[in-house]
Amino acid sequence: MLIGIDDTDSPAGMCTTYLGAVLARNLRSAGIGVTETRLVRLNPNAPHKTRGNAAVCLRAEGNPELAFSIAGALVDDLADLSCENTNPGLVVVEEAPAPEFYWQAVQDFCMVEEAREVLEGAGALARGWKNCRGLIGATAAVASVLPDRTYELLAYRAADRFGTPRQVERDSVFAAEAATWPHTWDSVDPENKVVVCVPHTPDPVLYGIRGESQAWVGAAAGRIIAEKAPIAQVWVTNQGTDAHLVPGTVGALLDGRSYCVAAIVAERATTGEGGHVEITVRDGDECLRCMAYEPTKGFRDVVRALAPGDRVVVCGSYKHGSLNLEKIRLRDAAADVRYRPPLCPTCGKRMTSAGREKGYKCRQCGARVAEPEQVVSPRAIIPGWFEVPPTARRHLSKPLVRGEPGLRWNESS
Ligand code: ATP
Repeated sequence: MLIGIDDTDSPAGMCTTYLGAVLARNLRSAGIGVTETRLVRLNPNAPHKTRGNAAVCLRAEGNPELAFSIAGALVDDLADLSCENTNPGLVVVEEAPAPEFYWQAVQDFCMVEEAREVLEGAGALARGWKNCRGLIGATAAVASVLPDRTYELLAYRAADRFGTPRQVERDSVFAAEAATWPHTWDSVDPENKVVVCVPHTPDPVLYGIRGESQAWVGAAAGRIIAEKAPIAQVWVTNQGTDAHLVPGTVGALLDGRSYCVAAIVAERATTGEGGHVEITVRDGDECLRCMAYEPTKGFRDVVRALAPGDRVVVCGSYKHGSLNLEKIRLRDAAADVRYRPPLCPTCGKRMTSAGREKGYKCRQCGARVAEPEQVVSPRAIIPGWFEVPPTARRHLSKPLVRGEPGLRWNESS
């Protein structure tokens, strides 16, 4: 059977993965074997997410009614039901529903009624709390498929420490990544000198190590010096797989979805107050504004290095009329040409504009020239993929260390 759970936490505490890890232990104590613990991230733009839009699915062997009642009691016990935005969902199915609902939940939006239809079709045991929104994530979790997968070891704190500052020795985290990279990633951000794998929110997670296998995340965790973590759970996940990205076309993007889009840089990037960088790309007559916000740090220099005419692929979520960049590919670099008034052919002085489309005029001697001077600069960027740093990475984004984006994506488009 598959047991799906979602929406048990609030900004004040708890975490659905913690509840799942405790449930795995409670089920085993009741004689129900747990054969897989799965963590799926759903649409990062879902409006009601608390943090990372996670849901969990446990694959187990035993009596479904018993598992359903153990899981329901645990949700009653641990979920932060006092928070208005916490609306848990619990489902148990003997066979996974078709994966369409999962893909819809990762790449698009779903309604509770749609989840209920899937559950009815699957003959599921289901329980929703309050407005039942968590049934969406719980259903998506049991319907999930992982054509690509990664692992995360989540270490959880002792309950009496929840909400207190975490004790994790910083140097040991850098050492753990140095010893296991590229088989683990994003525990630290070496360029920005930041520990990434230790949250700052009041939830039960002490740290999370992401990597390519159970063995590698365990190897990295074994090197971390930290306060006691009574529970450590390895999850198989869709994190770092780009499951949220779909091919898109400039001019036909929908709000709240995440895309990979082929385009041509239309204008040079500009930097706004607060440090965000904005660049416009186009496809024919259609234009698309792309954003790299301040937390993307050095990635903004990549965007600033792009020149009009560059052929690019831009990837990220489309929200409020702009694409928030997660990564970018420079396919073909154009010549970086800037124009300025020419030098006067007669007296050698820099000319000035004579007005729109009227060419240039020399203030010194009155000479006129039609064309500007072309200044071709060497490019500061070469073709390839570029990504935001680990500190700014979304759970679902595939880090380049795992290889190029795994898209159902037509390179010739
Ligand atoms: P947690 O650690 O508890 O999982 P979270 O950040 O993952 O926290 P939730 O508290 O689970 O966020 O809230 C997300 C809510 O949005 C859930 O009720 C989930 O069912 C719902 N949801 C997830 N994906 C979608 C989607 N694509 N469309 C509509 N609702 C969604």
